Amino acid sequence: MPAFAKRMSQVRRSFIREILKVTADPSIISFAGGLPKPDLFPTGPMADAAARVLAENGPAALQYSVTEGEPALREWIAARYKAKKNLDIDPAHILVTNGSQQSLDLLGKVFLDPGDLVGVELPGYIGAIQAFSIFEPAFAGVPLGPEGPDLDRLTEVVLSRRAKMFYAVPNFQNPSGLTYSLAARRAVAEILRMSDTVFVEDDPYGELRFFGEPLPPVTSFLTQDAYLLGTFSKIAAPGLRLGWVVATPDTLAKLVTAKQASDLHCSTLVQRILIQFLADNDLDAHIATIRAVYGAQRDLMIERIKAEFPAEVTCTEPEGGMFLWVTLPEGCSAFALFDLCIKEKVAFVPGGPFFVDGGGERTLRLNFSNADPERIAEGIARMGKGIKTLLAR
Ligand code: PMP
Repeated sequence: MPAFAKRMSQVRRSFIREILKVTADPSIISFAGGLPKPDLFPTGPMADAAARVLAENGPAALQYSVTEGEPALREWIAARYKAKKNLDIDPAHILVTNGSQQSLDLLGKVFLDPGDLVGVELPGYIGAIQAFSIFEPAFAGVPLGPEGPDLDRLTEVVLSRRAKMFYAVPNFQNPSGLTYSLAARRAVAEILRMSDTVFVEDDPYGELRFFGEPLPPVTSFLTQDAYLLGTFSKIAAPGLRLGWVVATPDTLAKLVTAKQASDLHCSTLVQRILIQFLADNDLDAHIATIRAVYGAQRDLMIERIKAEFPAEVTCTEPEGGMFLWVTLPEGCSAFALFDLCIKEKVAFVPGGPFFVDGGGERTLRLNFSNADPERIAEGIARMGKGIKTLLAR
């Protein structure tokens, strides 16, 4: 074995990536991944945009560019915050990144020393836990409920234990589908305001709201060290690998240095293709289509769960996003169910790995954005059989 750096021993391999290997078999109906629906990717318009960029300004599109990101893309992001959320964000405070995942990595690089305490939701986004793990922090879980995080526990982690960072996904969270209420957003901001804790608000799903009113980001109630992350992965295509972080000027300078050291800048060509795509197409109309399709698939999955799963099994009913969160009756193991379900050729992600404090044995995540309606109905029926077998044991 080569002598790997100590920091790598803390980093868990993503259990989800391991499951995705199993589900590569097309006969398995998979609710395991977090994949958008590929039929909805704007392939034709993207091809047109690429052709225009290369024909009209090919050499510049193929050249190195600035670390901060293409100015037109930063301006588009700022203008969208104004139009959709009435937030005044200076384009100079936006760093274009290689997806939100890179924003998490860069924030970790800039803020986390070994042993620093990082507050994360219980359950929490596994990709963030993995990204931060590289910097060898300690994690403290903050349980999530239907309205938002447990405020007593958040107070303890942020104020008593003086966490260095608190990471949250307030809209249609991955993995639970839960959303912070307006009151919870204000309360979280109030706790953070009394602290020096760096707040990282990750919002990849906010635009995928099927019903109800959009809520302001927690960062909009804060003036201190707070970072709002966005991405084109769920509203355009994840293969672009383009996202962003909104930062204070001092931190932006540090993030830029970290990004320079890591990859110089995001692909000039891909940024320019996206800018052309956004100029030539109606993104709102495209997002409306995504919402309609995912919303219908969410409704169907919930309806089939109510019909096929025993009544003791509960699930969240999210107002948007891509995931449902299922809780099995006391004493059940989601890993045992996973083994039964794989034999029935249906897959999901057991909830345990999303809990930094352990626990979550009888929870699991279901993705409703990727599979077609017929496969959703068939997959939920197969899972229902598996659950009944488990309960009969
Ligand atoms: N944050 C959360 C909460 C996510 O669910 C995802 C995607 N699974 C990401 C970040 C990473 O997104 P991106 O494609 O922008 O890197």
